[in-house]
Amino acid sequence: MLSTMQDGSLSIATLLRHGSTVHSGSEVITWTGEAGRTATFAEIGDRAARLANALRGLGVTGDQRVATFMWNNAEHLTAYLAVPAMGAVLHTLNVRLFPEQLTYIANHAEDHVVIVDASIAPLLAKVLPTFETVRHVIVANGPAAAITAPEGVEVHAYDDLLAAAPTEFDWPEVDERAAAAICYTSGTTGNPKGVVYSHRSIWLHSMQVCMVEGMALSAADRSLVIVPQFHAMSWGMPYAAFMSGASLIMPDRFLQPEPLAAMIKQFKPTHSAAVPTIWQGLLAHLDSHPQDLSPLREVVVGGSACPPSMMHTFAEKYGVHIIHAWGMTETSPLGTICRPPAGVGEEAAWKYRYTQGRLPAGVTARLVRDDGSEAPWDGESVGELEVRGPWIAASYYRLDKDDSAGASAERFDDGWLRTGDVGTLTPDGFLTLTDRSKDIIKSGGEWISSVELENHVMAHPAVAEAAVIGVPDPKWDERPLVTVVLRAGAEASAEELRGFLADKVAKWQVPENWAFIEEVPKTSVGKFDKKVLRAAHSEGRLD
Ligand code: ADP
Repeated sequence: MLSTMQDGSLSIATLLRHGSTVHSGSEVITWTGEAGRTATFAEIGDRAARLANALRGLGVTGDQRVATFMWNNAEHLTAYLAVPAMGAVLHTLNVRLFPEQLTYIANHAEDHVVIVDASIAPLLAKVLPTFETVRHVIVANGPAAAITAPEGVEVHAYDDLLAAAPTEFDWPEVDERAAAAICYTSGTTGNPKGVVYSHRSIWLHSMQVCMVEGMALSAADRSLVIVPQFHAMSWGMPYAAFMSGASLIMPDRFLQPEPLAAMIKQFKPTHSAAVPTIWQGLLAHLDSHPQDLSPLREVVVGGSACPPSMMHTFAEKYGVHIIHAWGMTETSPLGTICRPPAGVGEEAAWKYRYTQGRLPAGVTARLVRDDGSEAPWDGESVGELEVRGPWIAASYYRLDKDDSAGASAERFDDGWLRTGDVGTLTPDGFLTLTDRSKDIIKSGGEWISSVELENHVMAHPAVAEAAVIGVPDPKWDERPLVTVVLRAGAEASAEELRGFLADKVAKWQVPENWAFIEEVPKTSVGKFDKKVLRAAHSEGRLD
């Protein structure tokens, strides 16, 4: 029996219409260095229509790809809405990728147009001659002269194009299962892999972001969106804002602690989200430049494990709770998010907060052991996390083109996404990750969690950052090596740190290998880059 309900399409055009009318007065503020420039959601709606008209004028039809090479700002938000709403596909280029990777993904996605921020046009200029399908470059937030294009590519000024375009666009009916946006994972092995989100997956994911058991975004919020729009769709916040009416504060290229602190002071965001390294930097800055953070009702931290010590500093020094979340580009990205269950005492609540969080209704999970059996949800049994659901990737885009077919088998298992993350689940669906499968340290046949060691070391007052890798050992196969960055002016020896760990982990887990370094190398999205650390160790640069 069929239902008697209407079948309205879950499209980006509906989000655009909703946000720009029902929440017409909500704002997006873009930081310009010392102040912010403001656009209302109604104005963003007008500009989205103008941009769609301009893109049509440049020949963008059907599901052609329109790439962005941009920071978080109002123009990027406009592209987020206009490009999918007109039926085309938004491709967010990660501006921090290596040139060869940028070339690979622009050609793989067959981008037709690139919208670029003038401030990073010189970066794009270097690789543009290798982009085989790009015919138009649109320069935003600065003069078109910021880039010289190769033959066959036309350069346009964003403002001129929009000024000449009408503010009405006849948004087409789009199949909700059609592609809306494409984002490539940074690809720790092989080439980056394309994850193609549908209108429907973005809609459903946005609802989860807005839910109380999500980021609880509402029209009363002002969210400081630090996660780049080129990293896993800014964790869904731009679309969730147009759904809920939450105002947005966009940092543009100003991602250093000082300007972030200035934005917080000036615009008093109620909400924010970023990877731990960003917060680590901000907290260090606040140590010497104290500032009130109390307007923030909470901050979402994910992308890599959030050290409990950071959660305590935020809560105890600034009165702000960190909401820990786990996800991947392949999961849109919200996979789990942590809100302690109602009614638990303060101490128990903290134990929950340390976990990566709870599964929402849209994400089904299982833990798979090495022998293929499923591990029980008992909070102790460990397995690789596999997930499925309406906003989880089922495959990568055109893997057949020129990538190894192996990547698919590695990631997709009979309708499940193999996350490559290893951990436990409690009976009530709270996930604790112990490691990425490739980072696990196997010492004498026993596993050591690099994340657990890092969390303990980072709780030492002299330590700013700690990253642990497994290094070959003749007796135990592998042993942990702790790379440590000390806080400015602080001192601690390996012996002292070993002593600090003595009552925290089993004796055999206490590492004997320590290296004091200036900075932990980071990936293009700000995570500890253990690949680089392993290479440095094998080349004898960490001893
Ligand atoms: P990349 O693989 O380039 O880092 P993603 O942003 O998609 O790209 O990263 C997803 C991975 O990040 C996850 O598979 C997991 O290993 C890690 N991750 C994300 N959130 C957390 C978290 N809260 N705790 C631990 N690891 C996390």
